[in-house]
Amino acid sequence: MKISRRTFNTKLAGGLLGVSLLSKSALAYNFDKKNQRKLGVALVGLGGYSKWQLAPALLDTKYCYLAGIVTGTPSKGKEWMRTYNIPKENVYNYDNFDEIAKNSAIDIVYVVLPNSMHADFSIRAAKAGKHVICEKPMAVSVAECDAIINACNKAGVKLSVGYRMQSDPYTNEVKRLVKEKPFGTVQYVSSDAGYYSGGNPNQWRLNKKLSGGGALVNMGVYAIQSNIYGTGTNPISVSAQEFSTRPEYFKDTDETITAQMQFPNGAVGNLFTSHNANANRLFVSFKSGWVELNPCHSYGPLAGRTSEGRGISFPHRSQQLIQMDDFAKHILTGSTNFAPGEMGKRDMIIVEAIYKSIKEGGKTIPLNLGNMGIVSI
Ligand code: NAD
Repeated sequence: MKISRRTFNTKLAGGLLGVSLLSKSALAYNFDKKNQRKLGVALVGLGGYSKWQLAPALLDTKYCYLAGIVTGTPSKGKEWMRTYNIPKENVYNYDNFDEIAKNSAIDIVYVVLPNSMHADFSIRAAKAGKHVICEKPMAVSVAECDAIINACNKAGVKLSVGYRMQSDPYTNEVKRLVKEKPFGTVQYVSSDAGYYSGGNPNQWRLNKKLSGGGALVNMGVYAIQSNIYGTGTNPISVSAQEFSTRPEYFKDTDETITAQMQFPNGAVGNLFTSHNANANRLFVSFKSGWVELNPCHSYGPLAGRTSEGRGISFPHRSQQLIQMDDFAKHILTGSTNFAPGEMGKRDMIIVEAIYKSIKEGGKTIPLNLGNMGIVSI
């Protein structure tokens, strides 16, 4: 299966947008006996991910709904107001965004902008007293991740990273096998996350100033994540190599990276990420068996199997729907935050260590992460 964004998008466009959007009112209504209203989400940035994944998912979420939008393009604003019944007082642009502080209909700000803009808008959202979901990668440096976490702590608001995989049932099945050890301890983990990029060479993902990096920050964070939930622990060291086969296209950002990790129990991890090859797999080798997810990091339906010949299969549900409901539930009830800010910061520490290793000719970089960002199921 190719996992280009176009494939994701067209699949969903056909399915979810086929239903009448207006017949599903985007207005809040009571979802339980306590007359608790749904939390209002404002999407910041109405690009592909907001349009094809998040907004459609918010039509079916139980604990939150699409209440507002923040866009730099007035015509898009108008279109979204019509499509999703968004009142004009809940529509902002990047300049008047801070006025959102006065809007009690907005509880959560979801930042879906190019990576280098995540920190600024997440911090402004926190200062406005709003809970924050920040897309992956959380930011373009560890220092920026710290600034977001500090701003949210200071404002007393909740923070989560847009790691949809952390709410996915297939991911959770891997976590269960790692935790309950029916096949013994993990000896080796390997994960791949990449797609072939051949589109517009001026897209922001290929511009380091806007993206913070190439394949590693875009798709590599998924492979870092699955290496970690595939072992249940954080790595204690990493070494890495970079490969460039189309330097004329990837002028500014990394094309393909491989990395090796060591885990505290002796398990070894292998990571592949690329903007030049489709790859979408997780393989976990235990002492007496294995589990594989393939595809593993895309929007689903995913597929899995184990060494016992058992197929892993769950009814397909939108990952984004589950992810946003999980976070809204966390705010409303104190349930687990499956993708806290510390998880995003930890992954950025690993990203920076990988870039450092590459710069230093593949040197092993020690990591001292303890249990940072590990969330148990
Ligand atoms: P996109 O290019 O489709 O949209 C980007 C949006 O940002 C557009 O609305 C654009 O108008 C706006 N924007 C504002 N300033 C901009 C600037 N200077 N340059 C370019 N665009 C600008 O991107 P996308 O695919 O929606 O990605 C947005 C964010 O969501 C990224 O951080 C990306 O990593 C993340 N994302 C996450 C997933 C996931 O599965 N969790 C999937 C796709 C994207």
